[in-house]
Amino acid sequence: MKAAVLPDYHQSLEIRDVPVPEIGPTEVLIKVYACGICGSDVHLVNEDFKDISTVPVIPGHEVAGVVEQVGEQVNYLTCGDRVGIPWTQHTCGHCRYCVRGESTLCPEQQATGVNLNGGFAEYAKAPARDVTVIPNEIPFEEAAPLFCAGVTVYTPFNYVNYKPGQTVAVLGVGGLGHLALQFAHAMGARTIAVSRGDDKLQMAKEKLGADEAIDSSTEEWVEKLQQLGGADVILSTANSSKLMGQALHALAPEGTLVLLAVDSKEIVFPSPMDFILRRRRVMGNPTGSIKDMRETLEVAAKHGVRPMIETYPLDKAQEALERVRDGKPRFRAVLTMN
Ligand SMILES: [Zn+2]
Ligand SMILES: [Zn+2]
Repeated sequence: MKAAVLPDYHQSLEIRDVPVPEIGPTEVLIKVYACGICGSDVHLVNEDFKDISTVPVIPGHEVAGVVEQVGEQVNYLTCGDRVGIPWTQHTCGHCRYCVRGESTLCPEQQATGVNLNGGFAEYAKAPARDVTVIPNEIPFEEAAPLFCAGVTVYTPFNYVNYKPGQTVAVLGVGGLGHLALQFAHAMGARTIAVSRGDDKLQMAKEKLGADEAIDSSTEEWVEKLQQLGGADVILSTANSSKLMGQALHALAPEGTLVLLAVDSKEIVFPSPMDFILRRRRVMGNPTGSIKDMRETLEVAAKHGVRPMIETYPLDKAQEALERVRDGKPRFRAVLTMN
């Protein structure tokens, strides 16, 4: 089969002919139709995941395709089922996190396209229990980004005591943010987009379900958000520690700031009082569990949440990865194959 292989860190992807993966009794082989490219793939190349990654590897953890072959012990998926593989695979199923349905925190987990071969290929395999069925309403190329970007921004709604009608602000309108706005709108939130640039803010209001849009480069955005009552939840998808630090002050009492994107600089929170007097919280969130993944797809199917994508053939994987590295796609890049 054809695959885009990362031969070593800091190298370009190489299109190679490699063997089709052989599956074990509890695994499925998937004929891949689409695989999203994520900012994490850039981090992988840059050796930022060196504690958990191996090379050479076939990257890609937003995999969407069709079951081609099932292991002998798999009795709940059949050939032809539309499924996807997320970041998290090979969870143990019995640790304190797995038994609570929080498999994304399992210490035994392995990562698709990071230390296990992923979806920049014509075929990929995964344990059957780690894949999720894709609703028929969602085409493969739009489903793929939901397996990382989508589940990453949806999952916080399960952890922040969110109630419909609350105010959710999304910091940054990009690959994660444009999905976060749509999910917030779908979940019945009063949704506020905070970003730089008129075009993105206009798009947020016209196409992504934002009720309000605030320009973080020209307006006193924290004050403006406080004038709107403050945010019960802030989903921070901007790669700016400065904005993350400011965001604390834009929270309503009992509000939660959720960190979803990274910056190498430290975040500065001036005073513990800013947390204490208003009972505010700050938390992070990595992707989501198999339960969160299923909900993400169900909400997306029911409410029409769809990533805006640009597609590239597998042969153009390196070019597409460079566009992601340079922050150019509006808003997610997806490889298509087969
Ligand atoms: Zn990702
Ligand atoms: Zn576990």
